[in-house]
Amino acid sequence: MKQYFFQTQTEEETKKFAEKLELLVRPGDVITLEGDLGAGKTTFTKGLGAGLGVRRTINSPTFTIIKEYMGEIPFYHMDVYRLEESDEDIGFDEYFQGDGVTVVEWASFIEDFLPNERLAIEIRRKDEYTREIAMTPTGEHYEFICKELYR
Ligand code: ADP
Ligand code: MG
Repeated sequence: MKQYFFQTQTEEETKKFAEKLELLVRPGDVITLEGDLGAGKTTFTKGLGAGLGVRRTINSPTFTIIKEYMGEIPFYHMDVYRLEESDEDIGFDEYFQGDGVTVVEWASFIEDFLPNERLAIEIRRKDEYTREIAMTPTGEHYEFICKELYR
């Protein structure tokens, strides 16, 4: 599987990188985020949300699991960390097949519910400020997104 790598040195750079996805995503897209606590998953999400025109402050939805925002299109932010020991379907498809873009932090905890085609992103903390963003697209649309980001 082809992977695409990107490095950032600041929180702002990670946001800017995520913001660029705005031009490439479309309703029904799913982006999964993996990485340790403090890697930058929520930071990435804030950048993409800003790119999509969300004005409200995007915070980690750890206690609510799903937060819905309105930008140019709906933006769904999930943090499924609390579902680690659960196999409950809380209606994921409504979001994944809906009319918005969905970002899922700790997506591996709901592996069984994820669509096959998606953009899987892992953020690795290299040192205090350096992050490696590794993107693995599944499906033509997500391949296209990755290629465009590198043009
Ligand atoms: P997660 O959601 O993965 O737990 P957060 O996005 O909430 O992580 O936190 C990332 C933390 O790392 C923030 O405190 C942010 O300021 C810091 N940070 C330092 N350098 C970077 C970088 N290059 N990209 C993203 N965040 C960074
Ligand atoms: Mg987070």
